Amino acid sequence: MQIENSKIAFLEAKQYIPGGVDSPVRAFKSVGGTPVFMDRGESAYIIDIDGNRYIDFVQSWGPLIFGHCDKDIENAVIKAVKNGLSFGAPTTVETELAKEICEMFDNIDKIRFVSSGTEAVMSAIRLARGFTLKDNIIKFEGCYHGHSDSLLVQAGSGAVTFGTPSSPGVPADFTKHTLLAKYNDIESVKECFENSDNIACIVVEPIAGNMGLVPADEEFLKELRELCDKHDTLLIFDEVMSGFRASLKGAQGIVDTKPDIVTFGKVIGGGMPVGAFAARADIMDKLSPDGPIYQAGTLSGNPVAMNAGLASLRKLKKSPDIYNRLEKLAKRLMEGFKEAAKQNNIPLQTSVRGSMFGFFFNASEVKNFNDALKSDTEMFAKFHSKMLQNGIYFACSQFETGFVSAVMSEAIIDEVITMVKKVFKELS
Ligand SMILES: *Cc1c(COP(=O)(O)O)cnc(C)c1O
Repeated sequence: MQIENSKIAFLEAKQYIPGGVDSPVRAFKSVGGTPVFMDRGESAYIIDIDGNRYIDFVQSWGPLIFGHCDKDIENAVIKAVKNGLSFGAPTTVETELAKEICEMFDNIDKIRFVSSGTEAVMSAIRLARGFTLKDNIIKFEGCYHGHSDSLLVQAGSGAVTFGTPSSPGVPADFTKHTLLAKYNDIESVKECFENSDNIACIVVEPIAGNMGLVPADEEFLKELRELCDKHDTLLIFDEVMSGFRASLKGAQGIVDTKPDIVTFGKVIGGGMPVGAFAARADIMDKLSPDGPIYQAGTLSGNPVAMNAGLASLRKLKKSPDIYNRLEKLAKRLMEGFKEAAKQNNIPLQTSVRGSMFGFFFNASEVKNFNDALKSDTEMFAKFHSKMLQNGIYFACSQFETGFVSAVMSEAIIDEVITMVKKVFKELS
């Protein structure tokens, strides 16, 4: 496979854009090689600027649940574009999308739209702090909530500590309010509460997708809820990835635990930049202009993006069976992986939640970030590069989630499994 045009494009991009990319994971750093530059999408496929065609399991990192160039979403966007790109004034489509979402959840009365998942979680945390009038937050190792200051935190030296910044440019004073706990480990959360009585919220990916796919145990989420109730702390489900992906109601459609605030992104925009945060009315009414907690955005609720999101969500609601079908496809794919791994004595862990799937080159079950880090990333890099050369586009890191889309068929999945078997054999 030739990727000459991508190589040239990457060299040129690097002259003008740091690392040649606008979001670091795209640079292929953890798998090596040149990132392929995309020309266009076509249902289940993406085509690069050298004309190579790939089956796409990244789907723009989650948003494209209907695959590329879905006609209904495309038409909604074109229609909106012709009416003007943005007004900075209210439009009825915002209310329509808000209504569609609020009607789905008993614990959501109101929602506010922003332009990215980062903004959604950042705003949700400010809201939790403003509502509880407390300062500290708990987050989990390996969960990603966007790149805002207080969430770019890594573990300090102790078992449970106040976090230290994971990036230069984030003052330690900003992250000293972030307590770090271990995913699926309720004792580590209890320790945080023992160390602080000033905890505004726990923010958690109920189905972690940013350390590879690691779903939370139901019992763990239930106990988070109980701890929050006991300490007047709000529970935030970050469903930027899992929302409308794991099921129509995201993780909330799968587990019984109900959060106080939910954040959305990715699928909610149908491929356009949209994020949102939502909660019951007494929390949301604390937001400006009704309440004192400030939050704003020039392009928030942008009509083109709202129309893409609305078309996508209505389509999902019209075909509730879609998640069963997607889960079957994802399970078929992961079963194929497991069989291929077994045949070639490759240690492998897999999981599936709705249209989300994940696999680790790891001999033991993965329940948290530490477990995930024990995976064989060199094996992953080789696997990734061989799949890419054979026209199959997986996320370029061991610690990402894969996605199947509604335009995929069993035939496509089986084609991929055949290739996985061939590649695993070469790797063993
Ligand atoms: C992608 C993601 C974010 C950040 O969203 P952006 O749109 O990239 O800013 C936040 N939380 C989770 C769980 C995500 O998967």
